[in-house]
Formats: sequence, C-alpha cells, structure tokens
Amino acid sequence: MSLPQFTLLRPRTVAEAIDDLAKYSAHGAAGASPARSEHVSIRIIAGGTDLIPSMRQKLFEPEYVLDLRGIAEMRGIRPQADGSVEIGALTTLRAIERSQFLCQHYSVLTEAAATVASPVLRNMGTIGGNICLDTRCLWYNQSLTWRKGCGFCIKKDGDLCHVAPGGSKCWAVFSGDTPPALLCLNAEIEIAGPSGVRLIRLRDFYTGDGENYHRLQPNELLTRIFLPASSADYRGVYRKLRVRGSIDYPLAGVAVAMKRSKGHVADARVAITAVNPAPLLLDGAHEMLAGKNLDEALAEAVGDLAARTAKPLTTSALTPEYRREMIRVFTRRALLAAAN
Ligand SMILES: Cc1cc2nc3c(=O)[nH]c(=O)nc-3n(C[C@H](O)[C@H](O)[C@H](O)COP(=O)(O)OP(=O)(O)OC[C@H]3O[C@@H](n4cnc5c(N)ncnc54)[C@H](O)[C@@H]3O)c2cc1C
Ligand code: SF4
Repeated sequence: MSLPQFTLLRPRTVAEAIDDLAKYSAHGAAGASPARSEHVSIRIIAGGTDLIPSMRQKLFEPEYVLDLRGIAEMRGIRPQADGSVEIGALTTLRAIERSQFLCQHYSVLTEAAATVASPVLRNMGTIGGNICLDTRCLWYNQSLTWRKGCGFCIKKDGDLCHVAPGGSKCWAVFSGDTPPALLCLNAEIEIAGPSGVRLIRLRDFYTGDGENYHRLQPNELLTRIFLPASSADYRGVYRKLRVRGSIDYPLAGVAVAMKRSKGHVADARVAITAVNPAPLLLDGAHEMLAGKNLDEALAEAVGDLAARTAKPLTTSALTPEYRREMIRVFTRRALLAAAN
C-alpha cells in the first residue's frame, strides 16, 4: 500500500510548529473534529509507527505532515528538584523503558512502556504518540478496498457503526499501553497552541468517544508530560492481554500503582485500557483499598469493579466476554503482585 502524496514540514522549535499548524490546518479554530481527515489538512508525526501504517491504509490523507522530530526541546526525561519529573512528548518509549530514574520512582510507567509493540517500534515510537494514539477497530484499521467493501463506518467516510448498528456513536477502542500507567500516576500534560500553553490532567484529555477521542484541537500539540512527586515511589504493575507475546496492541490492559504502610494499603490506583474508547482510572478503587489489608477477596472485589467499568465490544480479535473477564483476572493479579 503506497503512501498518499503530502508535503513534509520540519519545524525546529515548538513556536515554529504552532505557526505551521495555524497556517496549514483547514479548520484550525476550536470546534473542528481532530479525528476526521476531511476536516484536517495537516497531521502531526512523531515516531510515525502508528500514523504511517494508517496513511498507507488511506485512513488519513493530509496535504501536509508536520514532523516534530527536529524539535530538541520536546525530547528528554528531566527530574526536578522537588522529586517530580517532566518528560518531553518526543521521548521514545525505549528511553522511558530504560530510564533508571523512572524505573526507580515511577515503575508502573517503565513496565507499561516495555510492553508496547516490539523493541524496533519502541526505538521509534514516542510517549506523545502513545498518548495521542488513534482508537482502533476491526472495521476501521483496514485497507481502503476492505472498508469500501463494507460500506465504510461512522469513524471514517460512513454513517453507520458495524459494531453497534443501532447507535450513532463510534466505539473504537483506545489501545495505548502507557496512558493507564500515567493515569495511575496522576499525570498532567502540557498542550501548546496559538494562545500559549495549557496544562490539563491526563484523565480529562480523553472524551470517551471513539471518533473524536481526545481534546486536542488541530492547531495544538502535546509538548510535555508531568509526573508529580506525590506519585513517586509507588509499586507499579502492568498486565496486558495480547494474542502474541510481542508486537501486538493490548486487547485488555490493567495498571496498578500502590503505596503500602505497616502492612496495609496506604493508597492505590487502578486504570484499565483497550476495553473502552478511552483509558480509564477506576472510580472507587482507592476508597475500596485504602487502609485495608489486601487479600484475595478484596483483590477480587476490585477486579469485579474493573470488569463492570470495562465495556468491550466486537472491535478486536478476541470476544468482548473474554476481554472483560481478563480485566477482572488481571486486576486481581496486578493488585496482589503490587502488594507482595
Ligand atoms: C505492529 C505494531 C504494533 C503496535 N503495538 C502497540 C502496542 O502494543 N501498544 C501500544 O500502545 N501501541 C502499539 N503500537 C502503536 C505505536 O507504535 C505506539 O502507540 C507508539 O507509541 C506511537 O508513537 P509514535 O511516536 O510512533 O506516534 P505517531 O505514529 O507519530 O503518531 C500517532 C498519533 O499521535 C499524534 N501525535 C504524535 N505525537 C503528537 C504530539 N506530540 N502532539 C499531538 N499529536 C501527536 C499523531 O498525529 C498521530 O495521530 C503498535 C504499532 C504497530 C505498527
Ligand atoms: S466502532 Fe463502529 S464506527 Fe467505530 S470504527 Fe468500529 S465500526 Fe466504525
């Protein structure tokens, strides 16, 4: 499958990138739909490990591609004096996986990063690209000919959903591995745009809609990720379901970050991925776990909560029932592993 024709733009600074986005995005103003290619004449590329295959499948045919890789200020892991850390959005997943500092203080992130795709893809793929990853579906991540044969769908070029035919919403699933870990760490992200930068909690970044899945406007880019000092030194565990032991996207994923004190759980956060159109921090998990002695029964109860929060549909190769069940099992196992 060949790539569509496009003009490559190579800014050297964030300011230049913002100028390019303003100049070349057809609907640069707020309100445009970031996910629909007919509205977007420019696409951002970081590592390109997800964007390039999607462009080959003609999911995106932008006139301009904005290559961020020349922007040095967007790269690197910078521990701060107060114990927090700032990570440039262009930092590769390999650099995150191998960072001694992150491994020691934010281990749920390094564990999740190490499960993404394969070493070759982690050498190219960035944390920013992982956070902004397009949602996935069996009916969408296909060639143009394949999609045309099925009459297209709401997410791209059509007006019905093959997964939930009665509705008008797209249920394509968010399939990034690091965002659930970042949610457990209460990460914030910096978004740069024409009117300056804004900082938002990662948990407010995703919409829960498979079509317009995040709150980034076409004239904005993600520049940095911040992990607070208050989230440092939690025990971290990430568990992921996939068909093969390497390369595959998650079909269900659970991240746990836990702090213990005197044999009890002092604080714990649980987040799930690959079973909803957004990665989700489990509401109520902290309340169920804090101050308790974690045993099988409690881990099972939180597993039930996670399974109730997961809403997998027939968007991927394994059945929704199996994926939901694995969310329950992985949550229980991850909690027990973090406690021991
Ligand atoms: C075979 C294969 C297996 C894979 N397996 C996994 C897996 O197991 N787990 C997983 O999580 N991912 C997987 N991926 C997807 C991908 O490799 C990773 O998600 C990677 O982190 C994407 O980062 P990137 O820099 O390559 O993103 P790109 O492909 O460059 O971009 C991805 C999206 O993010 C946008 N974007 C990128 N950076 C920014 C930014 N700074 N600001 C605004 N928008 C931005 C792009 O416009 C694009 O929409 C797989 C991909 C392949 C091809
Ligand atoms: S969930 Fe429905 S609308 Fe969304 S990509 Fe799949 S088939 Fe298309």
